[in-house]
Amino acid sequence: MSFIVAIDGPSGTGKGTITELLAKKFNFQYLDTGATYRCVTLKLIKEKVSLDDTEKIKEVLNEIKIEFKDNKVFLDKEDVTKKIREKEVTNLVSQVSHIKEVRVAMVELQRRMSEGKEVILDGRDIGTNVFPNAEVKIYLDASSEERAKRRYKQNKEKGIDIPFEEVKKNIEFRDQNDKNATVGPLRQAEDAVYIDTTNLSIKQVEKKATKVILKKKKLIEKIENGYKMTKDTKWKRFQKSFVKGFLGGLYHIVFRPKMVGLENLPKDEGFILCAKHINYLDAAGLILCNKFKIRFIAKADLFRFGILSYLGHLFDIIPVKRDKSDLNSIKMCLKALKNKEILGIFPEGTRKGLEKNMKVKNGAVFLAEKAKVKIVPVGIKGSFKPFTKVIFNYGKPINIEDFKNGDPDWLDKASMKVMDDIVMLTKNVD
Ligand code: C5P
Repeated sequence: MSFIVAIDGPSGTGKGTITELLAKKFNFQYLDTGATYRCVTLKLIKEKVSLDDTEKIKEVLNEIKIEFKDNKVFLDKEDVTKKIREKEVTNLVSQVSHIKEVRVAMVELQRRMSEGKEVILDGRDIGTNVFPNAEVKIYLDASSEERAKRRYKQNKEKGIDIPFEEVKKNIEFRDQNDKNATVGPLRQAEDAVYIDTTNLSIKQVEKKATKVILKKKKLIEKIENGYKMTKDTKWKRFQKSFVKGFLGGLYHIVFRPKMVGLENLPKDEGFILCAKHINYLDAAGLILCNKFKIRFIAKADLFRFGILSYLGHLFDIIPVKRDKSDLNSIKMCLKALKNKEILGIFPEGTRKGLEKNMKVKNGAVFLAEKAKVKIVPVGIKGSFKPFTKVIFNYGKPINIEDFKNGDPDWLDKASMKVMDDIVMLTKNVD
């Protein structure tokens, strides 16, 4: 099962040490993302590549092999655990990490290495960029003086001799560089837990972080085992039409939704609507402003409290556990499609997934193929600022059977076609 813990913060806040301790404690895989940037830097130094030579950098990125094994870091099969901490690399790594091509390649590598696993990662933009949906986000901070002291001591222990003043200057220089980066800047994610470690021992920080992780683990367990679909009673149907009328009316006043291409929707059969996902208001528009009934598939933990829990149950959201092979929700989806219901899925997986370079999810195509139904792509155009227009543009249904041509990648290719149509439908409507 996938469970991502993102530890972000500036250099010298103890991220590495804490992350390692937590990895051991919870049996998480540890991914030191700083080490991935250090490996690229070392390779660029070794091959004497200028940081302005984008083409050569791309070549290096194409052939680089970075691996983590037994607490060691390997670059092209060579153990570079110590080398990547040396002065030459340390002085250059921040600049290298701000090269767009490097950043994109490393983010992709970090996501690939973590896929479907219980992983703890430390870095600068893990909670904001690499895993915006991480289950746990912690932001560690400390004064620059304290951080320099720690890094200096750590270097000494590793046999690396850099004077204190130089370490401090380097930390402050990297802080500025990391915070002002145009790609993947160091920022605290809105939903991250902030821990100031200046006056805390490693044990104390570990204790605080442990509490945060345990709390989330318990919550997920409770929600995933506790979310039960409610029965379709007369009372529920009454509430549903009342809420749909009321909230739908409000939505019409505030966002002036316009529906285009409704004639494309298949009649008298179940199908899957795959829409652009800008924010939660797009799902609300599809549920509230259409005559047809649509059920969304969503992470159960979105519907854990108060009004969202009420609405999630009322509109029969199909909950998915974050475990990919959540058989129960797959069964629920297939049953709904067989009953000629309409399912809503966001193939980007998360809000603004495309902008965040997230891989398009192929769950919708998988379900459509199993249930033998079509997929209707929907483009959504609008800023969702009050009193501006939002357009929902329904495209022509996509027949998944057309993609099953023996190609082992057909699932991904069909998913890309769905996403391409969504993007086109979003662009080409006024
Ligand atoms: O954590 P560490 O000091 O090893 O990171 C080396 C450098 O790599 C950082 O100073 C930062 O510039 C960069 N980095 C990054 N994004 C990450 C991790 C590290 O830009 N996720």
